[in-house]
Amino acid sequence: MQPIGNRQRQQVCAATRACLARAAGICRIQLPAVEIRFDLSGRAAGMYRVHRGRRWIRYNPYIFARYFDEGLAETVPHEVAHYATDVLHGLGNIRPHGVEWQALMRALGATPRATARYDLTGIPVRRQRRFSYRCNCNTHRLSTRRHNRICRGHAAYVCRRCQAPLVFAG
Ligand SMILES: [Zn+2]
Ligand SMILES: [Zn+2]
Repeated sequence: MQPIGNRQRQQVCAATRACLARAAGICRIQLPAVEIRFDLSGRAAGMYRVHRGRRWIRYNPYIFARYFDEGLAETVPHEVAHYATDVLHGLGNIRPHGVEWQALMRALGATPRATARYDLTGIPVRRQRRFSYRCNCNTHRLSTRRHNRICRGHAAYVCRRCQAPLVFAG
């Protein structure tokens, strides 16, 4: 399974810019160019991200390799609509696939579906590694990020139920 190459990535970027322009016209707002990355793996075809005031759209180059036309027709407006409704309303004020997002999807001529139904056989799926921790009442599965923070002494976690500190179970 090969990800899409440069030529198709440029097509996806051009489609995203065109869709941004249409969304800006529909919503009557300014939509500054947003950074586009092709670094998404796993089961999602696209993702809209906001972090510390920066916004970007991530696309899955593997899913686009198999579903290129569907990606242009569905994933591109899907992520653009997330971006536009964020600029318009603020992500904290709306549900991710709520009425505002659905209305814009329809205005863009796309079907407002929260998740695409793709056959992902053979597409690499990133597996989140988990680490076992124990408290006095249970076993907890912590993410790699949390585990590393504990190892570096940057964080400690306690069980919400028994209040005991979580101890690495190996
Ligand atoms: Zn979505
Ligand atoms: Zn506990």
